[in-house]
Amino acid sequence: MQIAFIGLGHMGGPMALNLHKAGHVVHAFDLNEDVCDALQAEGVTIAASAINAVQGAQVVISMLPASAHVEALYLGRHGQDALLPAIARGTLIIDSSTIAAATSQKVAQAAQNAGIGFIDAPVSGGVGGAVAGTLTFMVGGSDADLERARPVLEKMGANIFHAGAVGAGQTAKICNNMLLGILMIGTSEAIALGVANGLDPKVLSEIMRRSSGGNWALEKYNPFPGVHENAPASKGYAGGFGTDLMLKDLGLAQEAATAARSATPLGGLARALYAAHSLAGHGPEDFSSIIKLMQKKA
Ligand code: NAD
Repeated sequence: MQIAFIGLGHMGGPMALNLHKAGHVVHAFDLNEDVCDALQAEGVTIAASAINAVQGAQVVISMLPASAHVEALYLGRHGQDALLPAIARGTLIIDSSTIAAATSQKVAQAAQNAGIGFIDAPVSGGVGGAVAGTLTFMVGGSDADLERARPVLEKMGANIFHAGAVGAGQTAKICNNMLLGILMIGTSEAIALGVANGLDPKVLSEIMRRSSGGNWALEKYNPFPGVHENAPASKGYAGGFGTDLMLKDLGLAQEAATAARSATPLGGLARALYAAHSLAGHGPEDFSSIIKLMQKKA
């Protein structure tokens, strides 16, 4: 299958590479030349533009930071040409970015009017999951479009869930990430408390991992440097999932909560804490760096 892949950042790069390794013809594009060069070195074809990338593609995948990027890409904005008119009728768009459900629905409607299929398929599993091809996809869209996407998604992920109609994948994703944002703060707080009281972070983490406080951060993504060799915390909080991306997702969760008059007190507090952390200059660092808020400065 010929696949256009737009957005080759922390997640999109390894996802596109897995499709290439699986034997698909991938035409990839990103505005950032450095990430294009890195993927080209792995043998992936880099297109000169997004419009070039979609020529001849049966499937178009996008993995961009936020709603504004996805809307600008497909529908055009501020002088940027819309990509939709360059995509052939009958093509399927898979947008894996985490964005507002309303934006997914807006782009899906425009795609449908042009005879193009659309599913929202945000992911969970982090950069490690993207590299290993074990992501979890949360899909919003029709059964038929999901079945068309399935063989492609299976090359990038281990779990594929159909959450409902277009936009439902995004709603599931922000519920999950609100929980993740909260549990990373709670985990950081507990480890910082133990360390401040003389405990070894590795020993404490292992005790909690196997006790009733066990969670994904303790399992795979410990916020304390040196506990998990491959976690961003052990690499100066580089790579991984940026604080600013977590802040965006918590903002989306609060918008959804406002719209439905839901009570999300910890989600609201978590958003405020990540916002303060971002303002203090940690926006580009991995979100597990939130532990710095609970630690004494060296
Ligand atoms: P990233 O910032 O590393 O990558 C985004 C890429 O999109 C950048 O390379 C940027 O240059 C490119 N881009 C932006 N606008 C573009 C355009 N118009 N045309 C082409 N390229 C464009 O972000 P990421 O960490 O890869 O995350 C991507 C999405 O996945 C986000 O919505 C994020 O919330 C979500 N997500 C991230 C993780 C994670 O662990 N990093 C996990 C799950 C979901």
